[in-house]
Amino acid sequence: MKMKLIAGMGTILWTLATLPVAGEVITRVATQEKCVALTFDACETKTPSWLDKTILDFVEKEQIPCTIFVSGKFAVRNRSELQRISRYEFIRLENHSLNHFQHMEKLSDEAQKREILEAEKLVEEITGRKPIFFRFPAGNHDANTLRVVQLLGYRVVHWTFPSGDPDRGETAPKLTRWVVSKATPGSILIFHINGRGYHTGEALPGIVRELKGKGYRFVSLEELIRLR
Ligand SMILES: [Zn+2]
Repeated sequence: MKMKLIAGMGTILWTLATLPVAGEVITRVATQEKCVALTFDACETKTPSWLDKTILDFVEKEQIPCTIFVSGKFAVRNRSELQRISRYEFIRLENHSLNHFQHMEKLSDEAQKREILEAEKLVEEITGRKPIFFRFPAGNHDANTLRVVQLLGYRVVHWTFPSGDPDRGETAPKLTRWVVSKATPGSILIFHINGRGYHTGEALPGIVRELKGKGYRFVSLEELIRLR
């Protein structure tokens, strides 16, 4: 009975920890624990984009918990591969809007809802699971877009600091040095897994190795948020 009660309390606390807080954009988690969460953007704008094989091979082989924010067009183009990787418990697919409009806040409320719900439908079809986190395209939003997303039950999760990986000049050693020096307990790391993280696949093994060497653990976004 007592155990049941404790388990029940745990579920309640966990549910509370994952509920959206009005106006909140999560960019890091306040914790003393040396944990970080790995996230990727998988968006497609003008040119066809594919999942980055080098990154994927590495996270699959090492089973590193990660969250991939997918946009609609990308989800359609990469459907079978996304379906395949979504079977892994350590890989989560979340919502990054349907069309990846750079400024969702300029759309009408109705259009914003469509952006969120149509992408949600695609992610749910692929994974069999309703996404719970949302990331704005390019991070752009205002108080109203935030309200619209949160009313649909989402928590908005951005990043602690930009990795800079869509810059071709960010070589693997530079990327590694930057990310390893900037990461702190509770950091949410962001990279691109859509072919626009030009040196990410090359840098990631070193980043993971060095952070682990400094005592960091890679945890899922859910687990990181639960640490609050
Ligand atoms: Zn994006």
